[in-house]
Amino acid sequence: MTLLEKDKNYIWHPFTPLEVEEDPIVIESAQGVYLYTADGKKIIDAVSSWWVNLHGHSNPVIAKAISEQAGKLEHVIFAGFTHEPAITLAENLLSVLPKNQSKIFFSDDGSTAVEVGLKMAMQYWHNRGITTKTKIVALEGAYHGDTFGAMSVGARDVFNLAFNRYLFNVDFIDFPNNQNEEKILSDFRKLVSREDVAAFIFEPLVQGAAGMRMYSPQILDQLISIAKEYDVICIADEVFTGFGRTGRFFACDYLKNAPDIFALSKGITGGSLPLGATSCSSKIALAFQSSESSRTLYHGHSYTANPIACAAANASFKLLISKECKSAIETINKSLENFKANLSGFSVIKDVRVCGTILAIELMTNDTSSYYNPIRKKIYSHFLSKGILVRPLGNVIYIVPPYVISEKELQSIQTEIVQFLNGLVRRG
Ligand SMILES: *Cc1c(COP(=O)(O)O)cnc(C)c1O
Repeated sequence: MTLLEKDKNYIWHPFTPLEVEEDPIVIESAQGVYLYTADGKKIIDAVSSWWVNLHGHSNPVIAKAISEQAGKLEHVIFAGFTHEPAITLAENLLSVLPKNQSKIFFSDDGSTAVEVGLKMAMQYWHNRGITTKTKIVALEGAYHGDTFGAMSVGARDVFNLAFNRYLFNVDFIDFPNNQNEEKILSDFRKLVSREDVAAFIFEPLVQGAAGMRMYSPQILDQLISIAKEYDVICIADEVFTGFGRTGRFFACDYLKNAPDIFALSKGITGGSLPLGATSCSSKIALAFQSSESSRTLYHGHSYTANPIACAAANASFKLLISKECKSAIETINKSLENFKANLSGFSVIKDVRVCGTILAIELMTNDTSSYYNPIRKKIYSHFLSKGILVRPLGNVIYIVPPYVISEKELQSIQTEIVQFLNGLVRRG
């Protein structure tokens, strides 16, 4: 059997129907921004392999840290034991998180980082003996992951239709779009003033999976400020926006008000190994500060704070805070802003959005803007045939490149996008 035949026989791929027309592409190696296929082609990874890769593939600094750690301490149970890579990582994260953050809880991925954040918020009220705070508020269109708690606080759609009746109730407020801000603020105030809201969870500034939808730090600051008035725990899901994606270290660095809890993952290891982290403020931690088992957060994973993953995250952190990386992020942002300005003449474009290193182009189509928009497949195959990996969210083409991408490589992607748009215009 060939590799592809074996893949077809044995493997179930994520977010992919079990019966598909197109074979997956076998990747043999990857370097920098390029993926190399088994049949000798190279593909530029314009989406950082699901938004995780920051410093390029097979980054030598991260690879070295992984290899050294693997030969020294690959893993140890994290209850009753601890190790330097986890302690250093916690220290690193707390050095860049808002000053109110005081503890780091490790897990495995974005979904579990969100689950832990929700559980911390819920048990915070339980530990304080307050039984009336039971509701969670989220933003319409949200994506927080695929485990049950994360699905519950996310948009209800085909992704979770089969599980809908098992999800807990959540109140969703409208997504801010510049025209509805007064209404959102008054709706939100009405909701939280009932005093039964335990927590408010949001993707700060950019809703990734919803189609790279962007909103202003001002409205989020106002929402958090109202939440604080009514003692509602604010959970920032920075799984996608963290680690420089929005131009600053965290999206919440654009805010005046600091959230109580942060969920982190994706870029945390520079895209090399799975790892999640949830941080909380001293106010949250204080409600758990006890030796009583009834006040303990009974949550953990076999691989909690895996030393190799933590070492990779520390190496990625060092790269991330370097001058070179900061200026690379600025250069990408400038290039994307310029590109955005050049796209203003296209009638096939409904909207162009840029935030930090994220560019989204929403196309005008006869169908509504959604993940299922049929244009998605066409765009995906078109760009792959040009050696570029983009994975449109319906009619939204976006790029989220690794920070090591060169100006020339970025230009080549932009040129292909313009040619694709010209093709659409000609076809009318
Ligand atoms: C990807 C993502 C998640 C889920 O992370 P996984 O590692 O895929 O479980 C959660 N929240 C946001 C905002 C994400 O973009």
